[in-house]
Amino acid sequence: MALAVGLAMLAAPLLGRSARPGSSTLAAQSVDPRIEAMLEDVSPDRLHEYLETLTGFETRHSLSFSDRDDFGVLPARQYILETMRGFSDRLQVSLDCYLVEPQGRITEEAELCNVVAVLPGRSDRRIYVSGHYDTVAQVEGEGFDWSRHDNPAPGANDDGSGTVLTMEAARVLAQSGLDFDATLVFVGFVAEEEGLVGASLHAAKAEREGWTIDAVFNNDIIGNSLGGNGIVDSRTLRVFSEDPMDSPSRQLARFIRRYGAAYMPGHEVRLVAREDRFGRGGDHTAFNRRGFAGVRFSESRENYSRQHMPADTLGGVDFDYLAKNTRVNVAGVATMALAPAAPNVNGGGGPMLGRGESGYDAAMRWRPSPGAAGYRLVWRTAWTPDWEHELLVGNVTEYTLPDISIDDYVFGVAALGPDGHESLVSAFVRPPRGRSDVREVGR
Ligand SMILES: [Zn+2]
Repeated sequence: MALAVGLAMLAAPLLGRSARPGSSTLAAQSVDPRIEAMLEDVSPDRLHEYLETLTGFETRHSLSFSDRDDFGVLPARQYILETMRGFSDRLQVSLDCYLVEPQGRITEEAELCNVVAVLPGRSDRRIYVSGHYDTVAQVEGEGFDWSRHDNPAPGANDDGSGTVLTMEAARVLAQSGLDFDATLVFVGFVAEEEGLVGASLHAAKAEREGWTIDAVFNNDIIGNSLGGNGIVDSRTLRVFSEDPMDSPSRQLARFIRRYGAAYMPGHEVRLVAREDRFGRGGDHTAFNRRGFAGVRFSESRENYSRQHMPADTLGGVDFDYLAKNTRVNVAGVATMALAPAAPNVNGGGGPMLGRGESGYDAAMRWRPSPGAAGYRLVWRTAWTPDWEHELLVGNVTEYTLPDISIDDYVFGVAALGPDGHESLVSAFVRPPRGRSDVREVGR
């Protein structure tokens, strides 16, 4: 079994204090058959069933309140809540509500509710999978009217696709029976279209309450494989992550590509080194603004003529493609949730990276991650977007790579659990230097 390779390598005599520079290249990733079984469990038919029901409510505009049980946002969110409740007794499903005053695109006071499902892990650190269940659409021929809440807005792809992906991910992870180290949180956010409202309120609460959020896998516009320009692409998807090059969000993006390639070799994750599509936004940004790592998953080829239009219907969603994108999410989330927390590489206010005894080496230290069985070092030249070299170093908390300049390379370290599951990389990076204000005479 491939996983045993990782374990054998952990036990191999790599525990010395140093290694020859350049002696390693990126290794093929081992896969866990339990995660493979979860990926197989992801069902295009179920995704279709959830989405057919959601689009059946005609609109999910965040203010489309009505007494009807077959129309608008209230029965839609109730459907998401009850469906997730039905997946497993282990899922704690509830509404996360906020009373919001009129502002911006919110034209009346309203109680707005995210739908949140929590799968408790052994630790409190959280990993999120999300989409926004609300919709908006122009009135055909008339443009946007934010005071109108009841015109047809099926939002099958924006963002019904991300919502049902989140639901299906919740199902397979909760029904896997696996015991995760991390607590998994599945959220359908509300009022994304009014300005990331539900996500911003939730992220503010997380910061206020001091929650540890290791990652947000946000999915928005993720199920269409036929671009508006006629280009078909059902074998790649995009993951957007905020700058700078070694932000925690960028480490998350690299991690998703690494494990996407391991579990879904025929389905390519394309990383985009920007926060979101040009001039556009999404709920992960609400978390980024509060210092949490978060990325956006989107289809590779969008059809802009359907977005925010009554034409955003079920027919514009490719369910086999959506299922593959769901599997990429599940592979990343499951790997990270089974692994220990990422190592802390900062002590006393700075990175624990130095030049070693010789003055010309790369000497790294890190704080131990609880439950770690070993660590993997990664490095690359400082003009390269992804890690180029890696080395398993056993269960140690310091390591020196001789004759590798810490000026010319970027370094990171990930924690490995006893079964070989890997955490996010913690990169040894300095915060930007403050500016020097030198006083001149007379000024
Ligand atoms: Zn959207």
